[in-house]
Amino acid sequence: MKYINESKINYLLKTEADEKDIDIILSKTKELKRLSLEESAKLLSVKNSAVLQKIYAAASYVKNIIYGKRVVLFIPMYISNFCVNSCLYCGFASNNKVTLRKKLTFNEIKEQTKILLKRGHKRILMVAGEMASSKDNIDYYVGAVEAIYNAEYKGNKIKRVNINVAPMDVESFKKLKKAGIGTYQIFQETYHEATYRKLHISGAKTDPDNRLDAIDNAFEAGIDDVGIGPLLGLCNPKFEILALLMHIEHLEKTYGVGPHTISVPRIEPAPGSSYADKPEHPIADEDFKKIVAVLRLSVPYTGIIMSTRETAKLRDVLVNLGVSQISAESKVTPGGYEEDSARNDKLDRQFNVNDQRTLNEIVHSLLLQGFMPSFCAACYRKKRTGGHFMDLAKPGEIRRMCDINALVTLKEYLEDFATPEVKELGYQLIEGRKAKLDNASISMLEKLFTNIDNGVRDEYV
Ligand code: SAM
Ligand code: SF4
Repeated sequence: MKYINESKINYLLKTEADEKDIDIILSKTKELKRLSLEESAKLLSVKNSAVLQKIYAAASYVKNIIYGKRVVLFIPMYISNFCVNSCLYCGFASNNKVTLRKKLTFNEIKEQTKILLKRGHKRILMVAGEMASSKDNIDYYVGAVEAIYNAEYKGNKIKRVNINVAPMDVESFKKLKKAGIGTYQIFQETYHEATYRKLHISGAKTDPDNRLDAIDNAFEAGIDDVGIGPLLGLCNPKFEILALLMHIEHLEKTYGVGPHTISVPRIEPAPGSSYADKPEHPIADEDFKKIVAVLRLSVPYTGIIMSTRETAKLRDVLVNLGVSQISAESKVTPGGYEEDSARNDKLDRQFNVNDQRTLNEIVHSLLLQGFMPSFCAACYRKKRTGGHFMDLAKPGEIRRMCDINALVTLKEYLEDFATPEVKELGYQLIEGRKAKLDNASISMLEKLFTNIDNGVRDEYV
């Protein structure tokens, strides 16, 4: 597989480190420095629980310094589960006869978006299976993105549409950029070539290099926020993480900037997939926690996304260790959002979802832990993306703007969508956070808050 030097990774997998080595690496992370592959391999090799606790503490420190208490919230929207590929682990695989298929019309996409707006969502990750013709794919994706942005509920609109769809050529990515997408996200699934070829048995996805090229094509089309990740459970997780970091090195070298986000989806049972019921490399929660912490330390400025594949309990732990964005009340099926949320998706979902909490319940839980739920999309709208975002992020300058924007979007959510209990808790948190800001930030925040009280929405700095 391109850019992935398997023999180097296999060599690194034999790395061992004693506590002294780990202490030296952790002191480097305190300066928020990016780690080398060798250093990440050493951290991944740790088994001793006392040393692991040190890694967790360091990850939590880095998360806090760079991201503060903010956690960005989003929701996936599945628009079609037709697919030409046969990924052995996926409920949408073309050879899966169990799954009920549906491709939403643009009008249905708009209606789904309105339901999400009504619950307070502002950021959508649009997801689809792959169609046979690349022209059909791109025309449908562009129309769907436009339908989402056009939907409106009582003056509320979606601020940012990210997408997770099949690879495309540069021209198609240019069309998506014009349609206003935020991040283009695509998971390599596994960076281990033999495993990749074994699990992707038909359709365009059989070629692993074509999948890697998608990220390069997106960059070349001017989309500088990209999201990558492995599907954990298919191969040795340490191999996957080192290969992911190698992929990031390639992107940094070629485009001067790495991915905007990393996702760490763990395989879940899927309707009609015996593979997904019994993946070859299941990962224990403790190893998963270590992976998240090591990623936080290895690439401190890259966002980490955690989906509802994970349980509420584990997600609550992982936001402390490095996760910066989480999804909420996800339905992994086209048309899955309904007013009463009682729909049975047993036969058309992609995989099992473990965190079933509503957005209000997740906001509640974040507030109880002292986190600031954020619905902000200001960087993307102000073109603070790619290398420009990293330049601001690295000196920590973005933090001040982010804190203000997070508090503004939180107040809007509390006013328009929260239950009374969440509203009260939210205002307590706002007061506490406000007290930590400098005078200039406080007066800016107060001005924006007064505007919200007077009915103004969607202001940001
Ligand atoms: N069809 C496009 C593709 O494969 O890139 C995009 C959408 S696909 C629905 C999104 C992701 O879901 C896949 O990249 C894969 O990592 C993940 N996925 C598939 N089956 C899964 C399973 N059983 N459990 C957890 N995640 C799964
Ligand atoms: Fe299709 Fe994506 Fe599922 Fe593979 S993972 S079968 S490409 S929807």
